[in-house]
Amino acid sequence: MQMLIKNLIFIWKIKSIKIVTMKTEALSFENTEIAFKSKSNADLRRAYWLFKLISAGPLVRVGGYFTKVALKIGLPIQGIVKNTIFKHFCGGQSIADCEAAIRHLATYHVHTILDYSIERENSEAGFNATCEEILRTVERAQKDQHIPFSVFKVSGLGRFDLLQKVNAKEKLSAAEVREFENVKTRIDRICKASFETGLQVLIDAEYSWIQDIIDELALEMMRKYNLQKPIVLNTYQLYRTDKLASLKNDFSLAQTHGFYFGAKLVRGAYMEIERERAEENGYASPIHATKDATDQDYKEAIFFCLDHLDRIAFMAGTHNKESSRMLALEMDRREIAHNHPGVYFAQLLGMSDNLSFNLSSHGYLVAKYMPYGPVKAVMPYLLRRAQENTSVSGQTSRELNLIIKEIKRRKQSKKSV
Ligand SMILES: Cc1cc2nc3c(=O)[nH]c(=O)nc-3n(C[C@H](O)[C@H](O)[C@H](O)COP(=O)(O)OP(=O)(O)OC[C@H]3O[C@@H](n4cnc5c(N)ncnc54)[C@H](O)[C@@H]3O)c2cc1C
Repeated sequence: MQMLIKNLIFIWKIKSIKIVTMKTEALSFENTEIAFKSKSNADLRRAYWLFKLISAGPLVRVGGYFTKVALKIGLPIQGIVKNTIFKHFCGGQSIADCEAAIRHLATYHVHTILDYSIERENSEAGFNATCEEILRTVERAQKDQHIPFSVFKVSGLGRFDLLQKVNAKEKLSAAEVREFENVKTRIDRICKASFETGLQVLIDAEYSWIQDIIDELALEMMRKYNLQKPIVLNTYQLYRTDKLASLKNDFSLAQTHGFYFGAKLVRGAYMEIERERAEENGYASPIHATKDATDQDYKEAIFFCLDHLDRIAFMAGTHNKESSRMLALEMDRREIAHNHPGVYFAQLLGMSDNLSFNLSSHGYLVAKYMPYGPVKAVMPYLLRRAQENTSVSGQTSRELNLIIKEIKRRKQSKKSV
């Protein structure tokens, strides 16, 4: 009975929010004036040179290798990285460093997700330290409506090899059982703290050979903390052939057990590694054979979440223009308020501002992942951003073209004054 009342209150809250709708026909991701209004001319010039350099694929490969080695042997290149690629894609080295960027985004109604980007820690002390830092992001968010989510990676809170062993259902030693209990405790602490502050918490998706256990842990957390509203959101990588079905199954489970369901929908970041590993080990690749098939599942996942919006909160984590437009249009078609709390658009800091800022200017809820951490520790993240922005994947031409267009527009509007 109590549960029914709580659910009714949640539905009432959703129905009674101020409806923000605008003609979505006017939504244009080509509007570079809005896209880059938060950038000064100097910011734009810096972004131009950065993306120009990154788009030269070989430079990224050689530069990536050189940077890794240089940082390892202590060559003084941290300053260069910090003032270039780090400055563009990260909020800073600490939460305090991120304050200016958080305020800056908030001015344009774009929200922040503080993402402590430490990867592949390997000691219990390191995992505890990461957990404490993520708890500090929750604490920071508590005071601020512009930070509606916390986020973590399970592999940042527990040893990768251990997760792999649990995932494969191998027998654990007594010490490993204790170690895994510690992982669960850390996850629970973050979800509980988020629950207590009314913050939503995103659990990132990772490699397929540790993903089953991540999914299991995420569902456990949903079952515990999503009884009154969706607090915990698990991530579904739609480049995997089985993830649309997982999304639907997990939702059915949530319905059966009476908890709200939370999903972050992404295409997936580890395609090449997944395919290589599958080939090397002689099993079928878990990734769709074509981009079209991934796109189709992504679209269907969005429709599925929209169909069940009374029981689902979801985030479209994408830089894809068509997916973002399709979601925006579909919300209008279904007369869903642009600021419906169950639908968030999200991009990474330093990428696809044309989507983030144009969507937010039309009243949609938008958040940016804002990675932060010591320069050396966020290098794997930065190298992934550099790699996906080489001209091979087409993303740079997208980013670079928009930057060039805006530089030209500013020059012309200066002339016409
Ligand atoms: C806010 C946010 C959060 C994210 N969180 C995660 C996360 O937790 N875990 C994670 O893995 N990734 C995450 N990502 C990254 C995401 O998965 C994508 O790698 C990235 O956003 C590029 O995809 P896209 O949807 O932006 O669009 P596009 O640029 O249209 O799509 C590129 C993606 O399509 C897929 N693809 C490309 N070619 C093929 C092909 N030939 N066959 C099959 N599929 C193909 C790949 O997934 C590729 O990354 C996140 C991204 C954002 C913006």
